[in-house]
Amino acid sequence: MRKLFYLLLFTTYSITTSAQTPKTYTSSEILLQLKKLNVLGSVLYIAAHPDDENTRLLAYLANEKLYRTGYLSLTRGDGGQNLIGDEQGIDLGLIRTQELLSARRIDGAEQFFSRAYDFGYCKTPEEALQTWGHDKILSDVVWVIRKFRPDVIITRFPEDSRAGHGHHSASAILAREAFDAAADPTKFPEQLQQGVTVWQAKRILWNTYNFGDNNTQKDDQLKIDCGGYNPLLGKSYGEIAALSRSQHKSQGFGVPAQRGAVIEYFATVKGDKPTTDLMDGIDVNWSRVKNDVIANSINDIIQHYSAEHPEQSVSALVKLYQSIKTIDDVYWKTQKLKEIQNLIEECSGLFLEATTNTQYAVQGDSLKINFVINNRLGAKIKSADVSFKDAHHVFDSIQNDINATYSQTVFIQPNEKLTQPYWLEEPMDKESFNVSNQQLIGKAENDPISAEFVINIDGVDFTFEKPVRYKYTDPVKGEVYQPVNVVPFANIKYDKDVYLIKQGSVITSDIKINSRSDIKKEIAVTYTLPYKNGNREDVFDSKTIELKGKDAIDDIPFNIINKNTDTSVLLMDAFGQDISPGSTNKTSGYSRVINYDHIPLIVYEKPAIAKTIFINLKIIGNSIGYIAGAGDKVPQALEQMGYKVTIIKQTDLTLNNLKQFDAIVTGVRAYNINDWLNNVYDTLMQYVKDGGTLLVQYNTNNSIGPLKAKIGPYPFTVTGKRITDETAKVNFLSTNDPALNYPNKITGKDFDGWIQERSIYDVENIDSNYKRILGMSDPNESQQDGSLIVADYGKGKFVYTGLVFFRELPAGVPGAYRLFANLLANKNEVIKK
Ligand SMILES: [Zn+2]
Repeated sequence: MRKLFYLLLFTTYSITTSAQTPKTYTSSEILLQLKKLNVLGSVLYIAAHPDDENTRLLAYLANEKLYRTGYLSLTRGDGGQNLIGDEQGIDLGLIRTQELLSARRIDGAEQFFSRAYDFGYCKTPEEALQTWGHDKILSDVVWVIRKFRPDVIITRFPEDSRAGHGHHSASAILAREAFDAAADPTKFPEQLQQGVTVWQAKRILWNTYNFGDNNTQKDDQLKIDCGGYNPLLGKSYGEIAALSRSQHKSQGFGVPAQRGAVIEYFATVKGDKPTTDLMDGIDVNWSRVKNDVIANSINDIIQHYSAEHPEQSVSALVKLYQSIKTIDDVYWKTQKLKEIQNLIEECSGLFLEATTNTQYAVQGDSLKINFVINNRLGAKIKSADVSFKDAHHVFDSIQNDINATYSQTVFIQPNEKLTQPYWLEEPMDKESFNVSNQQLIGKAENDPISAEFVINIDGVDFTFEKPVRYKYTDPVKGEVYQPVNVVPFANIKYDKDVYLIKQGSVITSDIKINSRSDIKKEIAVTYTLPYKNGNREDVFDSKTIELKGKDAIDDIPFNIINKNTDTSVLLMDAFGQDISPGSTNKTSGYSRVINYDHIPLIVYEKPAIAKTIFINLKIIGNSIGYIAGAGDKVPQALEQMGYKVTIIKQTDLTLNNLKQFDAIVTGVRAYNINDWLNNVYDTLMQYVKDGGTLLVQYNTNNSIGPLKAKIGPYPFTVTGKRITDETAKVNFLSTNDPALNYPNKITGKDFDGWIQERSIYDVENIDSNYKRILGMSDPNESQQDGSLIVADYGKGKFVYTGLVFFRELPAGVPGAYRLFANLLANKNEVIKK
């Protein structure tokens, strides 16, 4: 939805509790859930990305209509732009998965994903479906529908180009196809052996929209007022929606809260056209399972519910639980038993917790777990016990509002399964994840490591699964809960992900081994560094290392020499030996940690791999000033190229100070992020006039704030145009320009191996003083020439580029380095040549 919501930016909300703090319930929230027991209807919303979903509609459906409500996002948003840090790809997808889960905790809907990877912008649904594998992703949508069994499916987008993004229109096409396929036993029949049956939703609707210039709402569509105020929650649905949507912090989607009536429009795609309500013709009461007795019991519980004494409802809820166990409809039985068990826990004021004092469960080390039970409102608890791995404890007696505690140390086996997001466990296909366990497909995340409390309430045993969390007190944030991850005994990592080694040069680096445990031990490390004494010469080495205990770092230094002249790329995955005691502890990588306040800590395992680029690269000049934008890893890449990089802040931006630099580079979206760049235009232009080089990387003209600043010495317009085909043929439009010739002779080969796309936010209306360097086109489109423009200005040079150097340099694409070096080369040095 990136392109469509830009009108609503720049307000952010903060949530006072951390993402992991166990949720507690007020009496009014409990009452709302009691009412939900009487509703047997479900709605599934389907779109392509985190942030595509209509959070107001989800909030309304889940909290006003009390339907089971879900959002299936085909992708995890891996290919989006990141406003809060430099994570991209898989890392960004992990962040946005958690942002979506934070949003769902607020609006009350459930979250699902398919195996599709967000490979970045694409123009047509055909490209999206072909890249993902049409049948693979359709199978996932069908699976989620067969499991979730929605009465109504709602899409966000049309199937045509009005959707604005090939992923968007593909999501609508797959939803329509899955609407039929889920009901067809000949489609994906293997799923029917996995615990689901066919399912025919009543209808599929398109939730149309009006974004001013893009209005798809029509008068003959079903209209529903989704505004309104929920007194039990103390919020309008527009307010809940804003809080939910504002969780998409990596996208900068803070939005203002709306109050009052808001009409949503629905066009019928398939199934009966509804006239007054989404659920026209669908029974959403207990009569659906032909059992009106249950409805009466629930109404009775609601009638006698006391806000001051919710515990008085526990006995009746336990009775209700027992009677619902006898109904035949497996789907609604499972749903409602789950809801009632939660209500029993909430009405009892039960507090159940399993926590650790350490962040990690380390393979081959011990882990202390603290269990707490508190029966805060005095439910009738006959017995209570807890189990986690080899720990088991029966609590003596559970008294009213007294903490019953128990601690035990458990051993984490050396071969304990490492915590890894399930979709990252198997190697990916080009643009989709592989998950061989069908039961995991669709899930938003792994089930957490959990302890099991079995508590007998009113004579019935209830099993409560509670995630084991790391709990600590931060002096600023207060009490913080984080997930606990199983990690290897030691982290092994190359110092850098990419080694750029120019011909004739040597680099010295090291492998870092970081013990995760306080257990001190000596380990024999055998390692292979094929490049120790030159390219491609295998050299095996071994060393005994004494792991010095938690957080100590041991280094294994090595050199790599580039004797070659040709540019070539190799993956250094030489490491990966067994360093554990007893050879069972395979430690072949390191834990990547991503830490933001608004989401739980993200930890996943990556192999110890480094990319080695033997490169024929020359650079001119050595001192670069970098004006950071939204966050990118270009400065690190520049350092590897041999430049000295200085980050320039607003206060450093004086002409006198700039003189020291051979070139100034602005980070991605620097002009969108830094308003102050408006005020230093004259200084930067004078710097260029005096002989400097200014290279501006892409800025957006739309989604992230208006681009007011003047950027170059002569006019051009930043557009939303891009070249999404990363293999698009590149035509050289100014073959003699230094950009393509000096100091590195650029050829078509330099555009091999690019990732995700060629360029974004290319320019047009280009003043004649600029030279257009490259021409490219996406399939079936005419050539664009706005991805790289260069102008001489005074004694210096100005460059604007939409080429995605911020992706290609960190990914170690050799040609991107060679071209970037040319763009930075000082004009006067070039002339001297
Ligand atoms: Zn989208």
